Amino acid sequence: MKKEIRLSSFSILAALFIVISSCANAQNTAPDYLITGARVFIDKEIGFKNLDVGVKDDKIVFLGDAASQNFKTTNIIEAEGKILSPGFIDPHTHLTYDLSREDRKANLPYLMQGVTTIVTGNDGSSPITIGEKLGEWQSKGIGTNAALLVGHGSVRKEVLGLKDVQPNADELKQMKDLVAQAMKDGAFGISTGLFYSPGSYSETEEIIELSKVASEYGGIYDTHMRDESSYTIGLIKSVEEILEIAEKSDIPVHISHIKALGKDVWGKSAEVIKMVEEAQKNGLIVTANQYPYPASRTNLIAAVIPRWAEDGGYKSLIERFNDAKLQDSLKAGIKENIRRRGGPETLIFSSAEDEKLNGLSLKEIASNWGITPTETVIKALKADGEIRVVSYNMTDEDLNSFMQQEWVMTGSDGTPGHPRKYGSFSTKMRKYYKEDGIIDLPFLLHNQSILVAETFGFEKRGKIEEGNYADLILFDPDEVKDHATFDDPSKLATGMNLVIVNGEIVLRNGEFANKLAGKALKHQNTKP
Ligand SMILES: [Zn+2]
Repeated sequence: MKKEIRLSSFSILAALFIVISSCANAQNTAPDYLITGARVFIDKEIGFKNLDVGVKDDKIVFLGDAASQNFKTTNIIEAEGKILSPGFIDPHTHLTYDLSREDRKANLPYLMQGVTTIVTGNDGSSPITIGEKLGEWQSKGIGTNAALLVGHGSVRKEVLGLKDVQPNADELKQMKDLVAQAMKDGAFGISTGLFYSPGSYSETEEIIELSKVASEYGGIYDTHMRDESSYTIGLIKSVEEILEIAEKSDIPVHISHIKALGKDVWGKSAEVIKMVEEAQKNGLIVTANQYPYPASRTNLIAAVIPRWAEDGGYKSLIERFNDAKLQDSLKAGIKENIRRRGGPETLIFSSAEDEKLNGLSLKEIASNWGITPTETVIKALKADGEIRVVSYNMTDEDLNSFMQQEWVMTGSDGTPGHPRKYGSFSTKMRKYYKEDGIIDLPFLLHNQSILVAETFGFEKRGKIEEGNYADLILFDPDEVKDHATFDDPSKLATGMNLVIVNGEIVLRNGEFANKLAGKALKHQNTKP
């Protein structure tokens, strides 16, 4: 009897303690502000729920019916039935330079589209000292969250230069050490640009060895594949190479800007999709990103110069241009590459130093100069090795069917001179969801947030959940508009009512609040 009484008084004390501590808890987690009346995006299966969201400091601290909670906050944002989604995450950008510049580090082209986190260091090109760069961004401030991959091309260049050579055992060891250090310093994985020099000189074995190092630290393998077209080994063999790397390095692989580039491979999306699905069935983790435009943009050199001719860099290329013995094979190679991409009318010059050339097709420039397109390439590159081209080389069928895959997310691959930097996410919503109905809205939102966070291992991001970072966007899909075009590629998108980064409201009704709320994200080095 006595024992029972003692027990029950203990229970009362315990219950009291719980009440008191939960009050203290409610006090601690009382939101700084509430967003009420939003259609909150949960995931692609559940879709949307009418919930109120409370934010305190940099986190989501409440998700539910605020009226039932007696929160003291008077700071309430009325969402009026608009959609509240996790901020978008872009897995493929070229922002290392922008984020390091005073006048660009706010990352407005991305914030205006609702992108709150970006990955950069893609295509094999990154700083070597990852920790230093992340530290610099964190201390100077950045507008979006940013994560880095360590670039294989940069690592290779550091050890081997730009030469078409293979590493010996010692050199390979040096490269592996650089990758290991980058991973320890917070890189989320390794990227390659096997289409570009110097990545193109490497054999698969080298990539496997380096990817094994990234894998040890729980990183991902992200790749601009060796050949998206029919330049060298071809699209299908390049996908085979990626899957071989996934298997032998035991690493999740991510195919960047997936596409079927050029006449010879148009229609091959079906085969690529089948290969990826087969690999996934066999236990490999394979995902991809895609920018929603039928034209790419790249260096004129990379687009039309045979790889052998740029061994040693631009200087060596010019020497070969001036070598009479090489003229026939050089010209034949360039001519074939122009055909492969769809002909001289599909290659539009951009970023040429001679501004008169920008916006004109290779065909138009050739006819103005009164020489062949092949001779035009040589003449133009002799004067300016930095010329880039917008290249219309994809079909809508391939583009659409890649977009509809569960494992394909949006990646801007943003570079100057192509609207994808300022418009990828807004174009996808306006054109591919609203106008063409290629995908539905839950699918679009899921693959631009949850899927990317899971793929790259961004902890507590990408999903609206209590305890997660408050990276949030509020919008009405009818109001989301892209304004960047191939003629005018640097126009900001519009339509975001609210963009919140780490709990801070950085954009309200399209107005930038001049806040640098982004964080430099460090990978936690844990293998799942
Ligand atoms: Zn690329």
